[in-house]
Amino acid sequence: MYENRLTCDVCPHGCELAPGMTGRCRARIHRVKDGEGKIIPLNYGTVTSIALDPIEKKPLARFFPGSFILSVGSFGCNLNCPFCQNHEISMKGAEDFLRDEPLTEADNHLTPAELAQIAVNTQNRGNIGVAFTYNEPLIGYEYVIDTAKLLREDGLKTVLVTNGCVNEATADKVLPYTDALNIDLKSYDAGIYRDRLGGDLETVKRFIKKANDNCHVEITTLIVPGMNDTKEEMIKIAQWIASLPGGDEIPLHITRFFPRSKLEDAAPTDVSLIYELSDVAGQYLKYVYPGNV
Ligand code: SF4
Ligand code: SF4
Repeated sequence: MYENRLTCDVCPHGCELAPGMTGRCRARIHRVKDGEGKIIPLNYGTVTSIALDPIEKKPLARFFPGSFILSVGSFGCNLNCPFCQNHEISMKGAEDFLRDEPLTEADNHLTPAELAQIAVNTQNRGNIGVAFTYNEPLIGYEYVIDTAKLLREDGLKTVLVTNGCVNEATADKVLPYTDALNIDLKSYDAGIYRDRLGGDLETVKRFIKKANDNCHVEITTLIVPGMNDTKEEMIKIAQWIASLPGGDEIPLHITRFFPRSKLEDAAPTDVSLIYELSDVAGQYLKYVYPGNV
């Protein structure tokens, strides 16, 4: 009987999955078919949110400003940020979104071709492509790549809004099909990444570096009171971004936290602090955008 465990190599968690087991992200599973095991994305084609948004909302401030982008999300995430603004989908698994019955038009499933067609059909409303966002898109990178190839044939763009916490091999697969990214740099403290967010700072830095060599990159730091709200930490973040090739031209979005998820009872970030930290970052970077203020 087939009982092998397989290791998922998409992100640094390296989940070891027995047959039928789902990884920490709830989106990848060890499936056995005809006696052969394979780790596959359970969320392939499952769309839990779809909206035509201004590109500035991703946020991307310096990539086709004034345009719109078809924004889609699925389910699952490989991090577990206590302040997640999209926890209704990022913290959920297949059981919440997939159905046993045959798919009907009412189901939340879109093939890459169907999604690309919606993107084409909304070009007349200012749409420039598809943004994979809301949950973590790279834990289901296969769907991103399959759709991005079709979008490119139609002259449309692929945007990723990501936590950037994936292995280099995953980045190498997806970045050639990506035009622009907004990547979270949630803290400059490795302990906070590991213990509070379930991520890895060095992996995220490597991903940002690689993405910046290949695509248009903007970075977001959500300022959470008591987690990453000091001037010293902002100096480290801004200095590191500025040290990348062309780094002083990488836009940084410094955004305000609102109580959500496990931090529902926390106070929102002071608006004045967002402006103060934006001034600090502005000493190293040309484009700093205070957000949610
Ligand atoms: S992508 Fe998911 S299954 Fe794969 S290693 Fe990361 S958390 Fe585990
Ligand atoms: S990385 Fe983003 S989607 Fe995932 S838990 Fe953190 S805030 Fe939520």
